[in-house]
Amino acid sequence: MLKKTLAAAGLAALLAAPAAAQYDVAAPAPAGFDRAATGRATLAHLQNLIRLDTQNPPGNEALTAAYFDSVFRTVPGVETHVLNVAPGRANFVARLRAGRATKKPVIVMGHMDVVGADSAKWETNPFVPTIRGAHLYGRGAIDDKGMLAAALVAMQELARDRGRMTRDVIFLATAAEEGGPSVGIDSVVEHHRELLGGAEFALNEGGRIRVRDGAIRTVNIQTTEKVYYNVVATATGTGGHGSVPLPGNALAALARAVNRVHEWKPPVRLIETTRLYFNRLAATERNAEMRAAMQALTAPGATQAQIDRAAATLSREPLHNAVLRTGASLTLLNGGFRANVIPSEGKATFNVRIVPGEDIRQVVAEMNRVGGEPSVRFAVEGDPLPAPAPSPVATELYRSMESAARAMAPNAVVLPFMSTGATDGAVLRGAGIPTYGILPMPLAEEDEIRMHGDNERVPVAALGWAAEYLYRVLSGVAR
Ligand SMILES: [Zn+2]
Repeated sequence: MLKKTLAAAGLAALLAAPAAAQYDVAAPAPAGFDRAATGRATLAHLQNLIRLDTQNPPGNEALTAAYFDSVFRTVPGVETHVLNVAPGRANFVARLRAGRATKKPVIVMGHMDVVGADSAKWETNPFVPTIRGAHLYGRGAIDDKGMLAAALVAMQELARDRGRMTRDVIFLATAAEEGGPSVGIDSVVEHHRELLGGAEFALNEGGRIRVRDGAIRTVNIQTTEKVYYNVVATATGTGGHGSVPLPGNALAALARAVNRVHEWKPPVRLIETTRLYFNRLAATERNAEMRAAMQALTAPGATQAQIDRAAATLSREPLHNAVLRTGASLTLLNGGFRANVIPSEGKATFNVRIVPGEDIRQVVAEMNRVGGEPSVRFAVEGDPLPAPAPSPVATELYRSMESAARAMAPNAVVLPFMSTGATDGAVLRGAGIPTYGILPMPLAEEDEIRMHGDNERVPVAALGWAAEYLYRVLSGVAR
């Protein structure tokens, strides 16, 4: 009976309000903030940004830097810097000066490059912004031009009231986030540190606001990310003619060691962020067994045996498994050069993502032990940097992100989050600036998974939501 009523009510709601109900904000708009106008402005800027082809490689972010420069130059109280780094490549900084600056600046940042697009697989031209139904299609609509457009509009809105602001807001747009030479955030931190103004904290991409069944369910604020290394296994043995099988075949030893490491489950390692994450995620989990495991994992005083049992259940889900522990994925296998020659060497590469706080050298020592082949040595590639510390959840910026989310989506669960992928945020954290990740457009999974894929798109109604969210977060720390 109850089920039937709910189904009927759901259908009625669907017919009455097609797609955008989840973007209706219960709270009144902030004073002086025109929702319709800021929504239109965010859409227009995003369309302009999509038209600028910044596929990386080659990047050509200087196009976008020039666009931002032309827009920000007209905003009172803003000074701009185009930082040319290489032909066609630039970073961009705009600083909005507060009327009553008593606190250190806050940074809001995004990256200007996008990943390549396989036009043949797209329904639209990826570099011609196209509205179809409720969505805007185009490369970068989600990653990361949508956030840049929303941040730009939030800055314009803040500027109208800068006399009351207590800290400067620094807009930072970077090059080369999607890979390639160090011409992006590394270059800004290394050569233009002064433009970061001794910022107290920063807001970047990397989190998620998730929509399910027509409502915003979770607001995931990224406080840290797994740290990326490549570990290469090198097997050596006696080479020879394929006509005489040899017991010490390097490739066979490599295969055994590689398989053992692939099967290996590193120990569960919970940190403040992941403990809170699973604890709060339990409230939104629909599967009873998973929900119980999340509660058991984070229960005060849980024993190691209870934690391991709960983790075993959660680890059936690959993403949960990746959040619970260090992960090693086999990504490259190289060996041999002729069908009738036993090679004397073979190599395998594992992409290893460690939980912050772990030491890659210990992880590699463990891989050598687990591999268990005297003729196979695992070693980390390059000169590994230590992992930056996670950003604390007790800062003014984190709290502002939390309260803006609660005002705009009161039924959503807000939780800190460790991303398994890498962003520019790690570089700022490494430079001592606590950095929080959010993707301010609330997205359903079917849209989120198009990031880096074909037919990337964003719901048009999510853009105004994103600009308002960033405006609320920034004014929360700058007033
Ligand atoms: Zn991105």
